[in-house]
Amino acid sequence: MSAYELLHFDPEIAAQKPVSILNPQVKCPFCDRANLKNILAEQGSILLVKNKYPVLKDTFPTVLIETARCQPEFSEYTKDHLYQVISFGIHKWLELEATKKFSSVIFYKSHGPFSGGTILHPHMQIIGLKNVNCYKNMLIEHFEGMIIDNHSGVEFNLATKPRSGFNEFNIILESLDNLNQLADYTQIATHFCLNYYHRNCNSYNIFFYRLNHKIMVKVIPRFVTSPLFIGFSLPQVSDNHAKIVQTIQNKYF
Ligand SMILES: [Zn+2]
Repeated sequence: MSAYELLHFDPEIAAQKPVSILNPQVKCPFCDRANLKNILAEQGSILLVKNKYPVLKDTFPTVLIETARCQPEFSEYTKDHLYQVISFGIHKWLELEATKKFSSVIFYKSHGPFSGGTILHPHMQIIGLKNVNCYKNMLIEHFEGMIIDNHSGVEFNLATKPRSGFNEFNIILESLDNLNQLADYTQIATHFCLNYYHRNCNSYNIFFYRLNHKIMVKVIPRFVTSPLFIGFSLPQVSDNHAKIVQTIQNKYF
């Protein structure tokens, strides 16, 4: 059976989207709360709304707006707000999966100009895919790594077999009871990417997965994608694992 899965993109809808990430003159649609339509759920300043621009065909796209204003960014949230955002997001993602209306449900976050995001305001996306299995090209090996920390049944590692490269941080959760620990590790990984990883790093993605009855998270610092990955699907791994792991242990633990 072919491992090929394909999403269909609508360029006409995409052309209508406001791009605030590169142009500060564009008014932020997520700060303008009075005009936000199709609110699906709300918890304090956190909102789940239907995406106004459904660029992917045969999907149910939603946007999780994390904050009332464009600042602060996920890596800077207070613990209280961090835990609320992660808990709300994961529960809404699992709820959409539980409807059984979708082949799979994607949950991810983009931050910064190299992340693929178009809006600066902190947000995540939860997208139900009617016909596509988003896990078809995932391997369990993508989550193996050198341990950074392990606490309350949650593992935080640096991937030794990354999906795309060069460095990917994995957080692996055994049970939903330990969401706060998952949130802490996820925030540390994003903070490390933006502050200590590489002086030019201003972008990252967070991806959430459900594999082997576990919740797994990847935090990936983003730069221009390697041509070897684009052309050949060949991931690369940096050879400085031990040094990165030690730096994070020294700075955050
Ligand atoms: Zn905003």
